[in-house]
Amino acid sequence: MNRAKVNQGNNLADYHDVWVIAEQNEGKIHPVTIELVGEGRKLADSLAKKLAVVVPGADAEDEARKLLHYNVDKVYYIKHPLLKDFSTEGYALSISELILEKQPEVVLLGATSIGRDIAPRIAGKVGTGLTADCTKLEVDGEDHKLLQTRPAFGGNLMATIVCPKNRPQMSTVRPGVMEKAAYHQEIHGKLEIFIPSLKEEEIRTVLIEKVKSDKKKVNLIDAKVIVSGGRGLKAPEGFALVRALAEKVNGEVGSSRACVDAGWIEHLHQVGQTGTTVRPDLYIACGISGAIQHLAGMSEAKYIVAINKDPNAPIFKVCDYGIVGDINEVIPAMIEAIDKNGSFEI
Ligand SMILES: Cc1cc2nc3c(=O)[nH]c(=O)nc-3n(C[C@H](O)[C@H](O)[C@H](O)COP(=O)(O)OP(=O)(O)OC[C@H]3O[C@@H](n4cnc5c(N)ncnc54)[C@H](O)[C@@H]3O)c2cc1C
Repeated sequence: MNRAKVNQGNNLADYHDVWVIAEQNEGKIHPVTIELVGEGRKLADSLAKKLAVVVPGADAEDEARKLLHYNVDKVYYIKHPLLKDFSTEGYALSISELILEKQPEVVLLGATSIGRDIAPRIAGKVGTGLTADCTKLEVDGEDHKLLQTRPAFGGNLMATIVCPKNRPQMSTVRPGVMEKAAYHQEIHGKLEIFIPSLKEEEIRTVLIEKVKSDKKKVNLIDAKVIVSGGRGLKAPEGFALVRALAEKVNGEVGSSRACVDAGWIEHLHQVGQTGTTVRPDLYIACGISGAIQHLAGMSEAKYIVAINKDPNAPIFKVCDYGIVGDINEVIPAMIEAIDKNGSFEI
């Protein structure tokens, strides 16, 4: 049921403020929210507008209030018992209702499973466009439109997209792409509670049970060090070498898509355009050629070390330190050197 009135023939001057739609699970705010708040602040300052964060939930007021510590001007807490657990309709309907009432100029969501689920529905309900998976956002110096940049044509070029006639301008941004906002002890913003007119019959799904995955968690986004393997490993067993080095340097194991497609390792480990975007202090690429789609996910690492037997591999153009050699010789030599040293520090 679509009870939201569609936003036709926008009068652009009626729209104000930059919004971030927060993601929370059992009251815990997803890190991408803090990243979007960091980016949202920059956009709001460029537009001379306010920054607001929207938190849907049933008993998440305390967590919502904490977001005021990230230099946020307002937190809208959408409070309703039906928002206790995530549901596509519950979130999309109540966020759309708030957007139609308050008329923000820009709305940002994380390109997470939840963000990807609700963002297009919200855009449809409020009658605007959506640019998914943005890697860069900026404000046009002349007409103040939001310039939304994302990879296109398989990552071979970057497209900058504008939403010229409708508001809000909506974008999703993948976790790990933007820098987190800083925490401040003082707050200057306020929390406002919004009670949506949500009805039980509008939510077509019923949550029966939550089952936690027993898979080992791979946290590439927060990892300070990542050791990644590519097709140069030759076989799934090659990852034993990568894991051994990752253990020595206290890092996570990453992978190129070639290894994921070959079934050598799970997709959770994939770095790149269709995997995870990472920004560790140290990224060690082992037997990875450096295809543009891989670079899209790791080129923001502080230091990149590449090991490849081909001196012309493109990865050498982006790395800080390059080792031309066979990974089967270089990785054991690195492990031995760390053992001799007794410890590893970046
Ligand atoms: C739409 C789209 C999205 C994509 N998304 C992603 C993505 O998210 N992530 C991603 O990684 N890719 C992605 N790709 C795939 C990407 O284009 C490349 O195919 C992939 O990254 C190649 O992986 P690789 O570097 O491991 O393999 P290869 O390109 O085959 O490179 C293997 C490298 O290993 C080296 N090597 C071989 N043996 C050794 C040895 N013994 N010692 C040292 N070096 C050795 C070789 O010299 C070579 O450079 C995407 C492609 C498309 C079209």
